[in-house]
Amino acid sequence: MGPIRIALVGMGKIAHDQHVPAIASNDSFILTATASRNGHGVPGVAHAESLEALLEHGPPIDAVALCTPPRVRYPLAALALERGLHVFLEKPPGATVSEVDALQAAARRHDRTLFASWHSRFAPGVEPARTWLAERHVEWASVVWHEDVHVWHPGQSWIWEPGGFGVFDPGINALSILTHILPQPFYVTKAKLGFPENRAAPVAAKVAFRDAAGATIATDLDFREAGPPIWDIVVKTDAGTAKLSAGGAALSLPSGMTQFEEQEYPALYRRFEGLIRVGAIEVDVRPLQLVADVFLSGSRETVDPLYD
Ligand code: NAP
Repeated sequence: MGPIRIALVGMGKIAHDQHVPAIASNDSFILTATASRNGHGVPGVAHAESLEALLEHGPPIDAVALCTPPRVRYPLAALALERGLHVFLEKPPGATVSEVDALQAAARRHDRTLFASWHSRFAPGVEPARTWLAERHVEWASVVWHEDVHVWHPGQSWIWEPGGFGVFDPGINALSILTHILPQPFYVTKAKLGFPENRAAPVAAKVAFRDAAGATIATDLDFREAGPPIWDIVVKTDAGTAKLSAGGAALSLPSGMTQFEEQEYPALYRRFEGLIRVGAIEVDVRPLQLVADVFLSGSRETVDPLYD
């Protein structure tokens, strides 16, 4: 089998910052086309204004990576699967849990790969943390996930619309790591969400979870961090403490601290390729389900307005 001909859809920040270079560095893929209404394409690569136009007039492709906001991803993914393409979904995989379930059914029906990616799970400290925690009894965990929305989502109005996730756009990354590394499933016990008075999505949240063995997990998410981002997860166990910092790029265990070099997106594309080669689907909705549960059960307060 030759290289997988892939198209990128939604040429915004993440497509240009991460997907284009990750595809260029992987000989198993060839970036064959891009589709975006306003975003610019890549020199020498076919470009269309929409996925529909690309499928109609563009070069043949085998796969798409959907880098649009989650709210508009379902119809694109459903169309791509129907046309026999393998689909890579940026995170969060959709705006609702039920639409992602429907996409899984479509992928099975059309016998195509559907990869609901969680890039933070591919941070290099995450897998060693999971392995270490698998044999331990967790006593408690805490998460601080603070970043400046103006740096990471400059001018992105969609993030403040209903279905835009607000602070849960980055916060779901922490949940994607926690659901992967903690040995027990966990559920929401208390949530408080702060909505800016001029926005329809939360800018900050404090959420408490409890795992099936009774350990508590406290999360503190904030989009108003003025300084460098803080992406830290601490897990206290009966055999000492594990700390993932810098979003999982560094891991501290009782035996010492490791700072890793590997990057998330090249690893994501290696996984996508592997799934395509064996005809597999990889979809884990647990992080999205937890966010949905927070919105279902959390209390709300109005906080200061937030401007671009
Ligand atoms: P972005 O810069 O706004 O890019 C998204 C692109 O999707 C836009 O450029 C837009 O291109 C297209 N699009 C199609 N329909 C749209 C609509 N109704 N509203 C807005 N844009 C629409 O966003 P991003 O930061 O790349 O984020 C995209 C996805 O990647 C999100 O799910 C996010 O969680 C994820 N992600 C982002 C980051 C980050 O650091 N920013 C990191 C990891 C993952 P056209 O207008 O040209 O069609």
